Amino acid sequence: MSARGERCATPVLSTIGSVFQPASAPDYIPEIQLQQLQLSRLRAVVERAWERVPLFRSRLDARGIVPEDIRTLGDVTLLPFTVKTDLRDTYPFGLFASPMRDVVRLHASSGTTGKPIVVAYTSADLEVWSQVMERAFATCGLHRSDIIQNAYGYGLFTGGLGAHYGAERLGATVIPISGGNTDRQIMILRDFGVTAICCTPSYFLHMVDRAADLGVDLRELPLRAGVFGAEPWTETMRTRIEAMAGIRAFDIYGLSEIIGPGVAVECECQGGLHIFEDHFYPEIINPETGEPMPPGEEGELVLTTLSKQAMPVIRYRTRDITALLPGSCPCGRTLRRMKRISRRSDDMLIVRGVNVFPSQIESVLLAMADTMPHYQIILTREHGLDQMEVQVEVTARMFSDTVGALEKLNDQLADAMERVLQVRTRITLVEPHTIPRSEGKSHRVIDRRSL
Ligand SMILES: [Zn+2]
Repeated sequence: MSARGERCATPVLSTIGSVFQPASAPDYIPEIQLQQLQLSRLRAVVERAWERVPLFRSRLDARGIVPEDIRTLGDVTLLPFTVKTDLRDTYPFGLFASPMRDVVRLHASSGTTGKPIVVAYTSADLEVWSQVMERAFATCGLHRSDIIQNAYGYGLFTGGLGAHYGAERLGATVIPISGGNTDRQIMILRDFGVTAICCTPSYFLHMVDRAADLGVDLRELPLRAGVFGAEPWTETMRTRIEAMAGIRAFDIYGLSEIIGPGVAVECECQGGLHIFEDHFYPEIINPETGEPMPPGEEGELVLTTLSKQAMPVIRYRTRDITALLPGSCPCGRTLRRMKRISRRSDDMLIVRGVNVFPSQIESVLLAMADTMPHYQIILTREHGLDQMEVQVEVTARMFSDTVGALEKLNDQLADAMERVLQVRTRITLVEPHTIPRSEGKSHRVIDRRSL
């Protein structure tokens, strides 16, 4: 058993009281029963989308398929994929399967280019969303006595309200502070006796730094857990966060197109994220060919909403790279687990023909003492050749050290980057707090090659 597996043995026993509360019951459903439930829900959702969403119906027609052709779970592969551009092309309401009078909430992605994507919920959809978020918090070992500071943004982004309703349903005390205003976040974290926090991992790191500047040691506060998501983060980042803040840091996964946060979450074993697969059916495909990957192998995650009414999404290509993990989890949940997502196929940078992922750069930095996990990647083109510069913050102690020590660190980093990335990288060490901080998802890459 892995170190993480051993580590989770005690906490699971300590949460035995919450394990048997009704909200978590579907997490332990026997596999055969789960598959029966998934199949009946899959057939219903395909029928609903076929009847009500013209784009889906035309795609089934083109393949000569009718909903009755879905007889087993394996038949899901007969169905066409849905991709992000489908949501943009049908903007704003073209994929809705419910009339507006039944839609009670709309959310939209912030959208970096052009129009946002819009998603809809009936009251039954909101109920499912609250349930899966409640189950997610319970999976992280949170309960009604917790005081949860919800620093995900409230608004069109699904993070804030998704976490909010789940935490309330759990019976916890929710502080709906939303994102931003870091000094006030830290004041409330300390003064309100907060025991758990939700936000992006990069924003939490920023909070940790700022708390240190303000003379607040997070390790001395009652804060014991963080539920971090909305961007990929690494195992090394988790180790840093847990050590610096004295908490357990859990990874939560979700996306607006499917429901928002609450698609999958880590349990106290931290050995992969349990997927709430009674509502979201997962597949792993080869991102190049679209073919299913052999069990246990890494590929692109594809999700089908099994119970969504307002906007059923069939075989949505998430662009997130992961694998479904074999074997059962020591926590006893029967829901399958997926590997933590450390990269998205969208995040891939191609530098001089080589594939580079920001997460690889992050892992090099985190493995090195005296660097901070705050960095920025700047891509330029000089004389037709791609140049990659990584600006890295170093600790104040390091920066006040001799020039020789900085040069040595610079060389070590450049060598380590080249070993991992196979591309020579220019490293620029900068003083603490010089790289702009984000209060939501971090923007680490500046690509000036097309300018
Ligand atoms: Zn587990």
